[in-house]
Parts: sequence; C-alpha cells; structure tokens
Amino acid sequence: MVARVIPVDPFDLVVFGGTGDLARRKLLPALYHRMLGGQALPDSRIIAAARSDLDAGSFRHRVKEALRDHAAPEKLDPERLAAFLTTLDYVRVDAQGEDGWDSLFDRLKDSERMRVFYLSVAPQFFGPISERLATSGCRTPDTRLVVEKPLGRDLESARALNRQLATIFEERQIYRIDHYLGKETVQNLMALRFANALFEPIWNARHVDHVQITVAERVGVGGRGNYYDRNGALRDMMQNHLLQLLCLIAMEPPAHFEPDAVRDEKLKVLRSLKPLVGLGNVVRGQYRGINGEADYLEDVENPGSRTESFVAIKVEIANWRWNGTPFYLRTGKRLRARMSEIAVVFKDAPHSIFPESAGGTHPNVLAIRLQPDEGITLRLTIKEPGPGGMRLCEVPLDMTFAETLGAQGLSIPDAYERLVMDVIRGDQTLFMRDDEVEAAWRWIDPIIASAETTSERPQPYDSYSSGPEDALMLMHRDGRRWRALAA
Ligand code: NAD
Repeated sequence: MVARVIPVDPFDLVVFGGTGDLARRKLLPALYHRMLGGQALPDSRIIAAARSDLDAGSFRHRVKEALRDHAAPEKLDPERLAAFLTTLDYVRVDAQGEDGWDSLFDRLKDSERMRVFYLSVAPQFFGPISERLATSGCRTPDTRLVVEKPLGRDLESARALNRQLATIFEERQIYRIDHYLGKETVQNLMALRFANALFEPIWNARHVDHVQITVAERVGVGGRGNYYDRNGALRDMMQNHLLQLLCLIAMEPPAHFEPDAVRDEKLKVLRSLKPLVGLGNVVRGQYRGINGEADYLEDVENPGSRTESFVAIKVEIANWRWNGTPFYLRTGKRLRARMSEIAVVFKDAPHSIFPESAGGTHPNVLAIRLQPDEGITLRLTIKEPGPGGMRLCEVPLDMTFAETLGAQGLSIPDAYERLVMDVIRGDQTLFMRDDEVEAAWRWIDPIIASAETTSERPQPYDSYSSGPEDALMLMHRDGRRWRALAA
C-alpha cells in the first residue's frame, strides 16, 4: 500500500522559539520528514524567530545537527537535507521589545503565501507576540497562530489568554496544540468507533464495565524540576492530555467529521463530568528515590513541596450513555514503565455455559496503545488449542501499527508531522477550541484547589513502581484492578 500524500500549497511558517528544545527535537524534524514525504514543498519558507544573536547560516548549521540527533537516521539523505536547509531563515526578534519586528515584516511583506506563526515559547509571550504580530503588520486575514500548552494554569488565566488572543485573531485562526491528539492511534480511535458498525452498539454503560486511561512515564522531572513543581500532574497532564483522551473515548458520534462537529461533542463530555467534591476519588503521590536516585522533593529542590508527581482519579460522566461506568485516569512520573494506553474493559459474558473445569471466561478488553508501539489489541477468550478438552484461555488480537502498516510499506508519522500539516491545510479538528480548554479547567480547578488546601501530603511511592498504594485501592474498593504497567 502506498500512503496517499496530497502536497500542500507553499507556506511561510515562522517559529517563535525556533532555537528551543521543542523546535529542535520535534518541530523541525517533523517538517523535514514532511518535505521528504513530498507533502510540504521545498519552495515554502521556515523562518525561526528567537532571542539568540544568530545569522541564517549558523541557524542552518544548528538545525543540521538537530536533525542528525532527532530525524530518522535512514532519512538523512545529504542532498535532501541540503534542500531542506535552504528553506530555513532566521530573524532575531525580542518577543517583548521592539527589536527585530521590522526585519520580520520585511521578510514577509512581499509574500502571498499563507502564514503560520508557531509560538514555541513560554506562555507569558503568547500575548505580547500576538499583539506585535498585529502592530508590526505581520498578521494577514489568512494568518494562523499555533500555541503550545500550557494554556493557562486555571480557568481564570485560560480565559484571560483566550480573551487576549481573541482581540487579535479569530477563533478559526487559532490552533491550540495537544500533541496527544496527533498520535496515529488516537485518530484511529475515531476511525475504530465511527467507521465500524461493530463497536457502537456496545459502546455504553450496559456493556462497558469501566475504562482505564494511563499515561505513565519512567523519567522523573529531570531538569524541569522548577517548572514542574509549580504545576504538577493535575495541571501538566490531567487537565489536557488525559481529559482529551477521555473526550474521544466517551463522546457521541458527531454528525460529520468536521472540526466544530467533533469539538462540540468533546465539549459535551467535559460539561457532563460529575463535579468532584473533595479528594475522595483522587489519589496524589510523590516519587521516592531508590538505589540512590533522588526523591521528587530533592529533584525539585523544594523539601516542603506538596505538588504531585502522580495522580489517579475516578471520573464519572453524567449522561445516558455512561451513567454507571467509571473512568479511571492515572498519570505519573518515575513509574514502572513508559506506557500510555486507553483500555475499554467490557462486562463479563452474562452467563457461562462452560463447566468450572474450563477455567472461566475473561472480560473482553479493547486496549488502544499510544506508546510505546502504537496499536490496538482486543483480548478475547478462546478454547485452549489441543486435545485436552474444553479449556478456556485469553488471547490478544493484536494490531501493532508499526508491524501491520510496516508490512504494507507505510510508516507512522510523529504526532507533530500530522498536526503541523493540519495547520497548513486549515483543519482544526485535532486542536482544542477556547470553550473546550475552559470547560476542562472548570472541572479540574476545584480538584486542584482541594489538593492545594488539604493538610494531607501526596502519598510517597517507590520509583519504578505502579504508584501509591491508595491508587491501587481506588480500583480495589470497586472490585477492579489497574492493568499492569509494562512497556
Ligand atoms: P526552550 O526554553 O527550550 O526555548 C524557548 C525559546 O524561546 C528559545 O528559542 C528562546 O530563544 C526563545 N525566547 C525566549 N525568550 C525570548 C524573547 N524574549 N524573545 C524571543 N524569543 C525568546 O523551550 P521549549 O522547551 O522549546 O518550549 C517552548 C514552549 O513549548 C513552551 O511553552 C513549552 O511549555 C511548550 N512545550 C514544550 C515541550 C517540549 O517537549 N519541550 C512539549 C510541550 C510543550
């Protein structure tokens, strides 16, 4: 099978923060891969705008090094790399001052191409840069603005940011990135649900016992200790990535696969989340170093910190489809394995016709794996092969995308490749709308407020474990258990 690639029109993409970590590791490699794939044409321009005093030549040199580290090694063809580097330019711009804006305007003024401004900078610059884009004349009616998380740190600040951006750009021009939504499996979740007649009749509380959403990391806070400690797992992961995944699993079928139709349905899920009173259904934890590794408190250099590096929440959705089916969400650092997945656990078969000696049936589980090895697995109960009579066993029907698609000559693009191309194509389906971001904060703010005012400290858990004991209890008390954390 050959991937169908429709080339996009040439564009001007200005990356504010083009010398930063995100640009180096993700954004520029993604653009290089798309150019190799024939989707983004070489006569487009990528202009990095950042604070460092560089010229275009030294910026290109940096990007060449970055691609050596972060692009797929088999794709580092010298000729094509050189062609990519010629599309790059650099302008020194001060996000908060006057320096550089005239030069940026000069670079853009004669171009008729569609413009994208990608703000890969700290969020305090989102407002000032947007304003200067307007006053410097760089903004056109067709300009698109991309902003990275964090989108505020509570409802009030998210609203203020949305309002500020809305004075300069129309909502149709604003692309709020959540890179989890660009993952192939996440999009496949929508195909699985809405392109197959099989699942819809059983996608409800009558047939689904519960849903588990896990985003587990093995790494600790690393060099981001200071930043992380001001946010914690609730703000850094739960408010955005996990709630977005929850929306896609739980939403009603949209009437069309069209941005506002999809986002309207996601918004309805967020608005149907039962408010949590207190921390009864919330477990917070902080990792404890083992084998001489630092504790969370040492990593963030804040011995009194009450910020959580792990959180698990039991969430209920108050609507007809999901009433009575809990959704268990957990995310944390320094856990046993780096693993992100959504598992839909179906109810047991209503009646077993098999004798006890057959070993009993197992609930069906549909697991949608985001990382590592993106893919989908459906666990089924079958007869154990062989002449030993009727004995039941559980087997996975496994579709690992890398293997399945690899065998057909297709590769899985990184989330940023998909998302950047969507911006250029003008497709907002996988981007969060202003009201979605606000609804997510509205639900999570009281949880954060309870966490910040409780006298209880986050529960310690050993590094590389499954998280705090109470998180296991959150499931055990309902007669359920978490799926194993395994890479
Ligand atoms: P970084 O600190 O590595 O880079 C920041 C960039 O901003 C640099 O290019 C710097 O020159 C530029 N900059 C700083 N001050 C400036 C000023 N006054 N004027 C102009 N440019 C200025 O940051 P990063 O890790 O690349 O993150 C960028 C944004 O993306 C942040 O909002 C971050 O939260 C978000 N983000 C990052 C990642 C990641 O993996 N790094 C993931 C998700 C979201």
